Amino acid sequence: MLARIKRWLGLAKPDDDQSKLEEAARKKAEEQKKLEEQKLQESESYKPTQKTEESSQEVENVAEKPRIGYFHLSGCTGDVMSLSENYDILSELLTNMVDIVYGQTLVDVWWDDENPMPEMDLALVEGSVCLQDEHSLHELKELRKKATYVAAFGSCAKNGCFTRFSRGGQQAQPKHESFVPLSDLVKVDLAIPGCPASPEIIAKTVVALINGDLDYLQPMMDVAACNQNCGCDLQTNIVNKALCTGCGTCAMVCPTRALTINEGRPECNKARCIKCGSCYTHCPRSWFPEARIKQDLGL
Ligand code: SF4
Ligand code: SF4
Repeated sequence: MLARIKRWLGLAKPDDDQSKLEEAARKKAEEQKKLEEQKLQESESYKPTQKTEESSQEVENVAEKPRIGYFHLSGCTGDVMSLSENYDILSELLTNMVDIVYGQTLVDVWWDDENPMPEMDLALVEGSVCLQDEHSLHELKELRKKATYVAAFGSCAKNGCFTRFSRGGQQAQPKHESFVPLSDLVKVDLAIPGCPASPEIIAKTVVALINGDLDYLQPMMDVAACNQNCGCDLQTNIVNKALCTGCGTCAMVCPTRALTINEGRPECNKARCIKCGSCYTHCPRSWFPEARIKQDLGL
């Protein structure tokens, strides 16, 4: 599994199939298995039973699943709510496909002086980072060490989104005034944009991750380090380069209706734009998977 994740991130070396993390997970499972057997041997009535085999199998299965952590920094929880709106596949995803090892919302696990942060394959980080919030800064630094791959989960994490407008002075924490995207502070491996990210894109990203579907994930890796986004991107990167076809997708996805199509071209009302970046990332001319489409159509 981890080898596949590394392949789609382009980080795998040919001989890197057995990663250190996989080895650590296997060792942990073996140790746990040994411990269980030892306990049973110590008991007078010990006999290998089907139950023992089943529990050992369970340990092995858990060790093989990708370990995912969910981190809530300065965000609104909209992205994790969006994740939970995958009603039809959510229980399959959470029960059989991934192992959630960290998160205060999805599982009751968090990090402090007494509870070290577990190692994980993927960290989904929602929200931007408040520079006046020491705990957030420490958590980010720690998760970057513990997670093999870090994903900016939603537009606040990816490019700051509306937290960019913060100037402090709010009632609860008046001194919290500067919020920056993750990639301003740590290396981000992929980004799932959107305010919030759509349930479908979240589910498809996790499934693509499990399947090692590089084609699907490539644009998310391409935009991972892009920490500036607004409706102006369409003008600069699409319209000015004569790429716009006037399809209207950007206006449809804009959550604040800041975009209108005027004479076949997008026009941005900057006073309404919350700088989520959805319009540019959804525009079919910003990234067009021609090879993948042809392959899927058998062309
Ligand atoms: S989505 Fe892209 S191609 Fe379509 S109207 Fe907007 S800028 Fe033009
Ligand atoms: S124009 Fe709309 S979709 Fe584009 S960045 Fe602004 S708010 Fe987001």
